[in-house]
Amino acid sequence: MPKPLTENEVNRLTKLLDDRKRTFLEDYVKQSKKSRWLEQLARKKGIVLQDNMSTTDIWSKINDWELKEILDGGYGERPYRCECGMPLRFCYVVHHRQENKTYRLGETCLTNYTMLSPDLIKDITNGFHTIDLERDNILLKFERGWAMPEHYDILPLPEFITQQIEVGLPLSTKQLDKIEQQFKQELQRRRREQEMARLARIREQRFKVASMPRHASGSPIESPEKITYEIVLSRHLDQLKQIRENEVKLNSPQMQTKWHNIQQMIKDLKGGLAFDYSKFLIQMFELLYHLGLY
Ligand SMILES: [Zn+2]
Repeated sequence: MPKPLTENEVNRLTKLLDDRKRTFLEDYVKQSKKSRWLEQLARKKGIVLQDNMSTTDIWSKINDWELKEILDGGYGERPYRCECGMPLRFCYVVHHRQENKTYRLGETCLTNYTMLSPDLIKDITNGFHTIDLERDNILLKFERGWAMPEHYDILPLPEFITQQIEVGLPLSTKQLDKIEQQFKQELQRRRREQEMARLARIREQRFKVASMPRHASGSPIESPEKITYEIVLSRHLDQLKQIRENEVKLNSPQMQTKWHNIQQMIKDLKGGLAFDYSKFLIQMFELLYHLGLY
């Protein structure tokens, strides 16, 4: 499992956030950890969680140690004390409803005092570390600068995701993957439409340039956009896969040459060579059209 950032590094990155962003991120981490605790415990007890169940309902079914609160004493501070006496920055407040017991514990002492199985606690704390990694991912993206992917503005995103975007925090890779999966068809459709529009624009500009007097043809065709290997894959991987799956149907030598060209262009792009995006698009769309996939 990859290591979370050091406390020092998290502190440095957190300082880049304003109050709203910091509070949002802290809440997100806390809520995620509480739900992870709940899910793991429910799973262990064979309780199937349903969307319409309230947290209180679930807890009355589980009837075991509940994670009430995660206290954070702040960077460099250890104001809390574990039941064992160890000073703590992060303090997990756990409560047993039936036995009416509350403990304040550090992560390492969770097993000793709750008598929950070490395997379960290990699953839970591994889950906590995954959540810390996700927080690190958000912090690092914020430092590097981030923009919301195209077309997300028209999606019915879950409310907390909209809020996260609204406060100005990047979405984690995990959140992005989930959205891409959930809205796959809608996003594919939008992206295809956009490509068609882009292609039409390129064709029109080429036509204009071709029909212009000779001396003006050196002017840039469109405002240059730096096309990277990652951009091409993120936009066209599905289409390339479709062509690959149907390549046996490319029965004319011209089409086979185009397919060969495209693959070579991608290899060259990956290797850092010059890349003609409009040439790539035109050939790719011709192939898709030829195969009846467009
Ligand atoms: Zn302890």
